Amino acid sequence: MIVGVPKETSAGESRVSLTPAFVPSLTRAGLEVQVQAGAGVPAGYDDAAYLDRGAQIVPARAAVFAASDVILQVRTSATNPDAGAEDLALYRTGQAVIGTCDPLLAHDAVRSIAARGVSLFSLELMPRITRAQSMDILSSMATIAGYKAVLLAASSLPKMFPMMMTAAGTIAPARVFIIGAGVAGLQAIATARRLGAIVHSYDVRPAVREQVESLGGKFVELQLDTDGAEGAGGYAKALGEDFYRKQREMMLTFVADSDVVITTAAVPGKRAPILVTAEMVEGMAPGSVIVDLAAERGGNCELTRPGETVGHKGVTILGPLNLPATVAHHASQLYAKNITTFLLHLVDKGTLKVDLADEITAGTLVTRDGKVVNPMVLETMGAATEGGVSR
Ligand code: NAD
Repeated sequence: MIVGVPKETSAGESRVSLTPAFVPSLTRAGLEVQVQAGAGVPAGYDDAAYLDRGAQIVPARAAVFAASDVILQVRTSATNPDAGAEDLALYRTGQAVIGTCDPLLAHDAVRSIAARGVSLFSLELMPRITRAQSMDILSSMATIAGYKAVLLAASSLPKMFPMMMTAAGTIAPARVFIIGAGVAGLQAIATARRLGAIVHSYDVRPAVREQVESLGGKFVELQLDTDGAEGAGGYAKALGEDFYRKQREMMLTFVADSDVVITTAAVPGKRAPILVTAEMVEGMAPGSVIVDLAAERGGNCELTRPGETVGHKGVTILGPLNLPATVAHHASQLYAKNITTFLLHLVDKGTLKVDLADEITAGTLVTRDGKVVNPMVLETMGAATEGGVSR
């Protein structure tokens, strides 16, 4: 069985789906690995490194798609707005494609992949169970985004993070407020603490309090009824506008007292809730910084413009997209570990075995035999037809 690794072609996507270190685990399982020439270069992995580890380098992109039984991508055609159409034309019946495809929102793009007769596996749908932890790209990429968000904030803030006692006087530590203490938020807490900031955090899932505190952050207590805030798989559920309004009111002074606000609050398959209004931004001191990690889902701040930096009355609001690609070397290393573990999970005696009795396989399989087959994706498609969100 041939596994193909094409170069990523979406603008700004510098990750690669497989790094040289993981080639031997695939070849040991009886697979042949073909890598498009130059695929790893933007992430710092040259062709020679892949050759050294037993992969073949193939000059033509189309040849990788034509030869491969399984295509490993960071962005499948569904999450590649720039050049996805070219890949779509290269996918062929019976082939398996593993990568990201934004399955709960990119409905038309997913349907187009189904129409190519491809078995599409979405790594975003990896069940959040212990057995699948090493295959979980959302966690590994969120870790990187949380870390990088703090660095962006620190370099945009006209203040330093740590407390410093110098002969020229004492510098007070920066105050950082992190909204949403999931994987990205927790890594942001850890990173901001390492830089010496005073860190507060809030999450609708009260269970994260201990995790926040174990990283040296202070959990902010808001008198809100969060019963039922946690849904399946450890994710937050959408809570309704009334809840969000109360939450905003209660966070007003916290936001105003912070030098940096990092927002990471997300609800799967939904637009991110607005948690920081223009009025709250106006309450912050000039020079303060907001990094909105939910920008890809519309943003947690009312003033966020995805992919842009906005200045509003002295406050800087960053809405970065695809932060993991800005740390492409390590992001690719973690992604490659996730995708390799998943592929080996699917492989039995050198061939792909799609066992729908297995929770991991069934949970991630989106399209097969020309149809969309994933119940969760079908459900969101149905809801979208009845007036929900889709694109
Ligand atoms: P996410 O990216 O969907 O959301 C980020 C955070 O925002 C979550 O903690 C969520 O509770 C929070 N949030 C949502 N609405 C909010 C609001 N109004 N105010 C404040 N915070 C709000 O989630 P994630 O970080 O990918 O994962 C969430 C959790 O899932 C993790 O913390 C973990 O407990 C669990 N998890 C389990 C596994 C596993 O068992 N394999 C793997 C990864 C994550």
